[in-house]
Amino acid sequence: MTDLPFDSAHLDRLAEAAVKTGVNLQPGQDLIITAPVEALPLVRRIVAVAYRAGAGLVTPLLSDGQCAIARYENANDDSFDKAADWLYQGMAKAYEGNAARMAIVGEDPMLLSECDPAKVARAGKANSIAYKPALEKISTFQINWTIVSYPTVAWAKRMFPELDDTAAVKKLADAIFSASRVDTPDPVAAWAEHNATLHAKARWLNDERFSALHFTGPGTDLTVGLADDHEWHGGASMAQNGVTCNPNMPTEEVFTTPHAVRINGTVRATKPLSHQGSLIENIEMTFKDGQAIEARATRGEAVLQELIKTDPGANRLGEVALVPHRSPISDSGLLFFNTLFDENAACHIALGQCYSKCFLNGASLSEEEIAEKGGNTSMIHVDWMIGGPQTDIDGIRADGTRVAVFRNGGWV
Ligand code: ZN
Ligand code: ZN
Repeated sequence: MTDLPFDSAHLDRLAEAAVKTGVNLQPGQDLIITAPVEALPLVRRIVAVAYRAGAGLVTPLLSDGQCAIARYENANDDSFDKAADWLYQGMAKAYEGNAARMAIVGEDPMLLSECDPAKVARAGKANSIAYKPALEKISTFQINWTIVSYPTVAWAKRMFPELDDTAAVKKLADAIFSASRVDTPDPVAAWAEHNATLHAKARWLNDERFSALHFTGPGTDLTVGLADDHEWHGGASMAQNGVTCNPNMPTEEVFTTPHAVRINGTVRATKPLSHQGSLIENIEMTFKDGQAIEARATRGEAVLQELIKTDPGANRLGEVALVPHRSPISDSGLLFFNTLFDENAACHIALGQCYSKCFLNGASLSEEEIAEKGGNTSMIHVDWMIGGPQTDIDGIRADGTRVAVFRNGGWV
């Protein structure tokens, strides 16, 4: 393997943090890893750390962007309604048997931007349907899981087109290591402290029990009703298998479930959304009784329109998350074109599926009970950023009184 253009000690620490704090792999537990081929240096380290931590069987599954492009350029039309059901069924079976899940992201965020949006949408839909049984195990938090990232050349060059490959990767790597808190001598301790801070914010919101949040800012005047019996989460939390993990590295958010029919007003995105290889810029959406009745974007509007037509729940919200404007990721001033990072730089909302764990006793609720409390159902879950330095948020109590939650983009 060629030399890495960054400090490999940081990559060692990222592997360590991903296994110990991220997924918190238990002795004897199996692990499924998905990653782009470029992330092999990290994958190999993670596999070694996982086996040293007592892993049962570690199964890495690698993907390649150029193979994805080859499909859009060469496949016959029927191909775009197909997906690897057999693979996802196998994953679902592994999760049923308590395998843990780790995703390493780092693909070119605009990989598919030159491909036909209709074909991309069809393939995306077929994939969502096939993936559903496996994704459910993750979204209902039945097993411990995490997402971490790797600085690939393709991703780095999208962020720093003016730099050569080596300099671009080094710059992205430094940003990832700092945001993931592995540029400190003891990342596991740094994460414990960070988790305590996020838990304190979530506890305050859970004690307040707001019935709605009112967001205001440039182009935004949006009331987000919260689901009945919603629960705020942030940082490490316990999966249904009893293992406490950090699902996202990095993470800066506290988040909960909005009420699927109690969203009203207009909201303007504060950052571009990179979705399945396409960039969607300057989203503006108007909601009435929970439904997006108008959706615009200055770039990628066709992709956005296809996205909200995916299924009946795709034009309603399944998540609202609070992130202060001043966070390590936001302070970097970088746009990553990657949700894992960009959603942790700003308050965000997500179209589509809600997290059942964001309800009191969520694990014991049936799908019907979650729907009755206002939880949305969809095959998609797509986060986009609505917070910035001018974002104000009021919490509205059931009796109509208001409490200042955010002023000028930060916690009050
Ligand atoms: Zn989120
Ligand atoms: Zn989300």
